[in-house]
Amino acid sequence: MFADIIPALKARMPQPRGRLVANQSLAELTWFRVGGPAQVMFMPDGEEDLAYFLKNLPAEIPVTVIGLGSNLIVRDGGVPGVVIRLGRGFSDVTVEPGNRIRTGTGVPDVKVARTAQEASLDGLVFYRGIPGGIGGALRMNGGAYGRETKDALIEARGVDRQGNVRVYKNADMHYTYRHCGLPDDIIFTQALYQGTPGDPAAIAAAMDKVTESREATQPIKSRTGGSTFKNPPNSKAWQLIDAAGCRGLKVGDAQVSEMHCNFLINLGKATAADIENLGETVRRRVKETSGIELEWEIKRIGVAG
Ligand SMILES: Cc1cc2nc3c(=O)[nH]c(=O)nc-3n(C[C@H](O)[C@H](O)[C@H](O)COP(=O)(O)OP(=O)(O)OC[C@H]3O[C@@H](n4cnc5c(N)ncnc54)[C@H](O)[C@@H]3O)c2cc1C
Repeated sequence: MFADIIPALKARMPQPRGRLVANQSLAELTWFRVGGPAQVMFMPDGEEDLAYFLKNLPAEIPVTVIGLGSNLIVRDGGVPGVVIRLGRGFSDVTVEPGNRIRTGTGVPDVKVARTAQEASLDGLVFYRGIPGGIGGALRMNGGAYGRETKDALIEARGVDRQGNVRVYKNADMHYTYRHCGLPDDIIFTQALYQGTPGDPAAIAAAMDKVTESREATQPIKSRTGGSTFKNPPNSKAWQLIDAAGCRGLKVGDAQVSEMHCNFLINLGKATAADIENLGETVRRRVKETSGIELEWEIKRIGVAG
């Protein structure tokens, strides 16, 4: 448990419209279902509210943003400072002239894929299989099946730590594989995508294929964080992990998935430390057997318990 700093925050900024909660448990907001609380959780009710909050938040208080928690390990000691989660005020998706889709960043990727399909727009089918939200997709350059966020994005809006709202063109995002080059403190609020006209039945069929392929190859019903490590240049992380003999390896109740060994899973009672230690054990073994240092794709936040 952290000290409750909400009264002190409210004294500095009497009017945030969103919700402030002290010691909000984060485990149930992540796919792994592990980790401690947020010292303060703030759910702004829109971009203006978010900007107001950040402008008035003392500079020494750290800020962390989370999306749908599908690429996240929250450490057991929780996250000091403010954790921001974008919900209702960021949930609009609209189709705009020029085959474009504008969406708030609280919207799940799958809903954007579905909206595009219903509007006969192709190009966002790959979002069908990614279980995160648009904020996470923008930050991670989320992608699958040969396409990634950078291939469809026109621009994103975001708020910086000082509360300034900015628009970032695709090139400003400095995207590389599962990485956005903008400073970590930018909180994305909105994205604008370019679709291409297509046949809605064909797009729907392509989306169904994505679902089938996921169910066959990934433990999507488990408590997991998706791909744990980035694929190193010219190799596949799962092959290196398999070759290092780590398939099925366990630390406590955390296990390297038998089905897809770049996925770690919480069998039920794992702690964040179990999962992170398992990941580090895998990295060490892969380094010993192949000489390659795997890089975490999953984001780890907070402090040890
Ligand atoms: C079963 C499964 C399958 C997956 N398959 C894929 C896949 O095929 N391709 C793929 O790319 N990923 C995949 N992932 C990983 C994950 O879904 C993506 O990385 C996703 O984009 C994360 O979005 P999220 O909303 O869950 O973000 P979170 O996990 O909550 O956060 C991830 C990162 O994004 C940042 N972030 C979140 N919201 C914002 C915001 N509004 N502004 C700024 N930063 C923000 C967080 O600070 C954090 O650094 C998979 C995960 C699972 C569990």
